[in-house]
Amino acid sequence: MMRIVLLGAPGSGKGTQAQRLMGKYGVPQVSSGDLLRDAVARGTELGKQAKSVMDAGQLVSDDIVLGLIRERLSRADAANGFILDGFPRNIDQANSLNALLEEIGQPLDAVLLLDVRNETLMQRLAGRRICPKCGTVYNIHSLPAGATTCEKDGTELYQRPDDKEEVIGKRLAVYDQQTKPLIEHYSKLGLLRKVAGEGELEEVSERMEAAALAKPVPASKVKVTKTPAQAKRKNPAVKSAKPAAKGASKAASKAKSSKAKTKTKSKPKSAAKSKAPAAKGKAARKSAKKSSKAAARSTKKAARKAPAKKAARRPTKARKKK
Ligand SMILES: [Zn+2]
Repeated sequence: MMRIVLLGAPGSGKGTQAQRLMGKYGVPQVSSGDLLRDAVARGTELGKQAKSVMDAGQLVSDDIVLGLIRERLSRADAANGFILDGFPRNIDQANSLNALLEEIGQPLDAVLLLDVRNETLMQRLAGRRICPKCGTVYNIHSLPAGATTCEKDGTELYQRPDDKEEVIGKRLAVYDQQTKPLIEHYSKLGLLRKVAGEGELEEVSERMEAAALAKPVPASKVKVTKTPAQAKRKNPAVKSAKPAAKGASKAASKAKSSKAKTKTKSKPKSAAKSKAPAAKGKAARKSAKKSSKAAARSTKKAARKAPAKKAARRPTKARKKK
């Protein structure tokens, strides 16, 4: 089952990737723009409504688009899923879509965000050239150096006004503004999957596939709680606290009662150094340093167990902030 919404900036390669998924898994790409054009061309009931709205120079209402989506998803080829493209564009639409999909028993599996840096998008879009005769789209970055004509018919290629740099900048800004709330929305619902959209086409396709097929993680399981692994991570710091505990009977008994394996007689300092970085990142390294310092300090003032314990907790806090 592959019921997904595809998000991606102009130039992200979204269309190409959707085509490839469609080809491989036989699920239709459902683009709201295509649905509209098709409905208008076929003169269906919704198509007629849409046409009269568009002829009046107004935007087609969400209800019409949702109606078209409902119709499209009821066809047999959508039984195993769909790739929705171009809809929703805002939270209201996302909510209406959600209600519709629940109603027809085809809820979303995932929202894939094809992630490409703005400078790359800019480069791709600004490099686009089109043959006015046959419509083939080229990119100056993939054309032979100096080539300015169509490979098929020799016609001089041109750049669409939309693909001029200053216009692209605006298009990307509009996209960002529009999409940010959606990204947050789907992220909160645990549906969002970010796919790195740069690199070889084949690689990106593989990442898309993996993201589309991955089983969703229920939101309740995403929450960060104390796991055995985290408890283990604490241990190196506890070990380093051990020398501090020598002499201080209270601290010593605490260190023992914690599940730290207290076999280590050898070099507790280096143990802390070598294990703590593996625990996680800078915060852990810092606290490892601190705790070994603290350990050194408190070998003198043997009663001071507090600094070492504090340091032991710090990595956990740092992780939670992220
Ligand atoms: Zn041509």
